[in-house]
Amino acid sequence: MIKALNLTHYYNKDLALENINLEINKGEFICLIGESGSGKSTLLSLLSTLLKPTSGEIFFENTNYKDIKDIDNFRKTNVGFIFQFHYLINYLTVKENIKLANEKATNDEIYNLLKILKIENLLDKYPNEISGGQKQRVAIARALINKPKVIIADEPTGNLDSKNSLNVFEILKKLSESGTTIIVATHDKELAKFANKIYEVKDGKIN
Ligand code: ADP
Ligand code: ADP
Repeated sequence: MIKALNLTHYYNKDLALENINLEINKGEFICLIGESGSGKSTLLSLLSTLLKPTSGEIFFENTNYKDIKDIDNFRKTNVGFIFQFHYLINYLTVKENIKLANEKATNDEIYNLLKILKIENLLDKYPNEISGGQKQRVAIARALINKPKVIIADEPTGNLDSKNSLNVFEILKKLSESGTTIIVATHDKELAKFANKIYEVKDGKIN
């Protein structure tokens, strides 16, 4: 589904990733582990089209990223993002925050999605009225509302306690079992055990 060939990335003259080759299949749950600064975020940014590699190629279902015409539409239909910090808008309700990602989403669709995440009672709450773990589940809902083929998550539990972290990884696992491809960076080796495949990123390389 996603194939990376000889990816190398420099920030100015600083090498961040060197010669990465990866092949990710539909429905796989991939974890990138590695120390801070090892290159995980850079790799996720490249795979999600947020950053262009210095050299190398990336393919999504045989489309070369270089050939994608409408990058906004590509991201919207294919990739859902989850970050360490939830980036919810404080003056919008949970429902309105989710609508930002997909203005055509119906109330029923949003309700059903929140129900799966067990936060349907939070529909009309504001972010500062709910807990950190709940906020992260809202962020997951926002990433899922477009039914993306791939979820890319960068330290999605970096800001959560262990119980909420476990919960987020259980949700991601279920999503992968229903066919969504999951690519997650974490520095937590215990959580990484949820994945089908673990890649260790070290000094910009995967061994
Ligand atoms: P990780 O996600 O594993 O913490 P990153 O991909 O963020 O690693 O960083 C890899 C390397 O690239 C680090 O040396 C980091 O300092 C550098 N780096 C990351 N982002 C930038 C940037 N925007 N500009 C310059 N250097 C960066
Ligand atoms: P953050 O700002 O890091 O997203 P919060 O400050 O909202 O997180 O929450 C910190 C912790 O306090 C959470 O892990 C949660 O357990 C608890 N908490 C905060 N607000 C609530 C709330 N409204 N109901 C229940 N627990 C809450």
